[in-house]
Amino acid sequence: MKFNDTVFNTIDNGIIILDENLNILAWNRWLEIRTNILNADIENKNICEEFSYIDEKKLKRKVKAALITKNPSYFNVDPHKYLIKIRINSINSYYDFMQQDVTIVPYDLEKKIVCLYIYDKTALREINLKLEIANRELTDLTNKDYLTKVYNRRYFNEYSEKALELAKRNEQNISIIAVDIDRFKKINDNYGHNVGDEVLIEVASIFRNSIRKSDIVARFGGEEFIILLINAKLDEATAIAEKMRIKIENTAVEVDNNRIDVTASFGVATLNKEGNESIETTLKRADDLLYIAKKHGRNEVVNSL
Ligand code: GH3
Ligand code: MG
Ligand code: MG
Repeated sequence: MKFNDTVFNTIDNGIIILDENLNILAWNRWLEIRTNILNADIENKNICEEFSYIDEKKLKRKVKAALITKNPSYFNVDPHKYLIKIRINSINSYYDFMQQDVTIVPYDLEKKIVCLYIYDKTALREINLKLEIANRELTDLTNKDYLTKVYNRRYFNEYSEKALELAKRNEQNISIIAVDIDRFKKINDNYGHNVGDEVLIEVASIFRNSIRKSDIVARFGGEEFIILLINAKLDEATAIAEKMRIKIENTAVEVDNNRIDVTASFGVATLNKEGNESIETTLKRADDLLYIAKKHGRNEVVNSL
C-alpha cells in the first residue's frame, strides 16, 4: 500500500499499517528516516519476522482486540520499552534505544486492518529518571552520613521510633549494638586524617554487610556507630556483634604498604520484653556496656554487667 498522504508522512510519530496477520502494508516517512528502511522494502513483510524481538502472541492478541472492540488498544512494549528498535546516537542519553509508547487503532474493520502509532517517549523517560535520581540523592543527603554512607543520627531517631512501635505490635525483640573503633586517634595521628577516613568507610561497610534489610546502621559521632537490629534477641544480637568484631579484626586496611590493624569494641543491649523501655534508655545501656569493653582492654563484645 502506498501512502502519499502528507499527514501520514509529516506527522511526528511512527505509523505502521498492519493487517490481522501482522503483515506490514505501509509505514510512514518517520519510520523510514529512523530505521533506514524504506516503505517499499518493508511492504508486505511480516513485522515479527522482520523484528524477531517483538512478542508475536501479544501483538496478535492486541490487534485482534482493537478490531473486535473497535477501540484503540494500548500495546505494552515491556520488557524492551520499544516496538521497533531504533538506536539513539547521543552520548548524553541514558538509553541506547528510543523509548516508545505504542497504540493500536482500528483502521479498516472490513479488511481487518489496524494502524500502529509509535510515540518517542525517550525525553520524558529521561526527565523522569533524572528526577528519580535527584530525589534519591536528596533523601540520602538528609538521611545519610556523607563519608560512610550509613544513616545519620537524625534518621536513626526517626526510624527507631517507628521500628519500636512495629516491634511492640508484633511482639518482636529489638536490640541495639553500640560500636566504637579502638585507639582511632592513633590511626589518625600515625597515618593522617585521610587514612582515618578510609578506615571509617571500611568499617561502616562491614556493618552494612552484616545486617538484614530491616536493620540499620547509623554513624553517631566521629568513630562511633549504632546498629539497630529488628527481631533479634540478646544472644542473636551478640552473635552478630561478635561476627562484626572478628571481621574488623581480620580486615587489614593497607596504606602505602603499611598494614593497619583495626579493632573495635561493642556493647549490646536488648529492649526489655515489657516494651516499656525507650530506645534512648537501651542506647544508654549499650553505650555503658561498650565502655566496659573499653575498660577490659578493647576488641571485645560485652552484653551484660
Ligand atoms: P578509644 O579506644 O578509647 O575509643 O580511643 P580513640 O582514640 O578511638 O578515642 P578518642 O575519642 O580519643 O578519639 C577519637 C578520634 O576520632 C578523635 C577524632 O579526631 C577522630 N575523628 C572524629 N571524626 C573523624 C572523622 O570523620 N575522620 C577521621 N579521620 N577522624 C575522626
Ligand atoms: Mg574510639
Ligand atoms: Mg569515641
